[in-house]
Amino acid sequence: MAYELALALALIQLALFALCWALIAALMPRERLTALLFLALCASDAATAWLHVGQEGALGPVAPWIMTLGLASATLVCCGADAFVHRRPRHARLWLGIFAAGAAVMWLPLPAGGEQLLRLAVYQGCFLLLLIGPLVRLRAGILVEFGRYGWLPLLPFALMSLPVAAFLVQITLQPEVVPSRYEVDPVRGARSLIPFAIVSGIFHITWLGMMLGRQVVAAREVARVDTLTGTLRRGAFEAELELGLAAAARLGHPLTLAFVDVDHFKRINDLGGHAAGDQVLRRLGAVIAATLRNTDRCGRWGGEEFVLMLPGLAPQQAPRLLRRLTRRLASERIAVPAGCEALTLSIGYAGCGAGERPDGRLLIRRADEAMYAAKQRGRDTVVGWHELGGDTPAAAEAPA
Ligand code: GH3
Ligand code: MG
Ligand code: MG
Repeated sequence: MAYELALALALIQLALFALCWALIAALMPRERLTALLFLALCASDAATAWLHVGQEGALGPVAPWIMTLGLASATLVCCGADAFVHRRPRHARLWLGIFAAGAAVMWLPLPAGGEQLLRLAVYQGCFLLLLIGPLVRLRAGILVEFGRYGWLPLLPFALMSLPVAAFLVQITLQPEVVPSRYEVDPVRGARSLIPFAIVSGIFHITWLGMMLGRQVVAAREVARVDTLTGTLRRGAFEAELELGLAAAARLGHPLTLAFVDVDHFKRINDLGGHAAGDQVLRRLGAVIAATLRNTDRCGRWGGEEFVLMLPGLAPQQAPRLLRRLTRRLASERIAVPAGCEALTLSIGYAGCGAGERPDGRLLIRRADEAMYAAKQRGRDTVVGWHELGGDTPAAAEAPA
């Protein structure tokens, strides 16, 4: 009776996890494959648990089924985790190959004499490979994405591999006690439901957590990054600028801020439609990203206006980098509609030298004023705020 209760609890737990994976499969298209594989895992585990207990003492005949299902569960785990980490089961052939070897040895006739032992040794070996495989093949990918938290979903693999490895050692050192274990008895089977439920619970909870973590990071990215150009949204840029300025002031490093505006962009929209304009903005975002150093930041200030934060760059050094950007843009020859001139930029910049403590808004306003001066000088040029020599008419009109 106690075994039936244990079975019922294990099945309820699996049903709850199955519901979670079904919801994920329905609501998150990008994670659907992993969710479906883990859903199948719940079904396979439920069948294994039922076989363990529901056979009324006649477990011997179903032992090969139990073991094959156990191997199938481990394979589903590997494929699902692989699909999660690499967006597709990159090592599917490896996992399925190990499963095929283990399943074949369960069912194929073997030469008499020590056959049980051989079956068990190969089966456990395959099982161990399916537990250690993800630790080896998926570790790098998962640690890159989740940092040290990536160890968490790998924990169940490590936990499970310990008893399997211990059993393999026992097969090697004490082969005489092993054959009796092949005829799994229902008492042992039911007892094994408890560690199974614990490890299975840890497994599903950690992988559901990973799934959730990925969604949170993605939602944060969407809030930070402009989807069209791949640059930071204005609010995210302002936050980065405050941090950059605080770091510059603290370390005594210079910092330059540049305001970039596309020349005659409206013509591109007028002659080629907004889709053509969007494509130009997309390409421009990529050119800017490719030109900047990884400590620099680019934000989309509005329509076709971008702001660049260039830490460590003194205002005197800025023209070199900004001209590099305009040269690169020219060499990329971004396609524009017929009748439009090649894409050019008007850039204004302002900066603070080492030891100065400027304000982010002030820097942006100065760079904006310099950009307006660049427009007045005929566009396709770079102007520094220090060249303006005081307030300009454009500066007076420029938005703060
Ligand atoms: P100037 O050289 O003086 O800067 O001329 P301009 O035509 O670039 O300046 P203006 O500010 O008049 O034009 C900007 C245009 O950018 C107007 C707006 O319709 C367009 N725009 C703003 N955001 C987007 C966008 O996301 N996609 C597209 N395709 N166009 C946009
Ligand atoms: Mg503009
Ligand atoms: Mg413009």
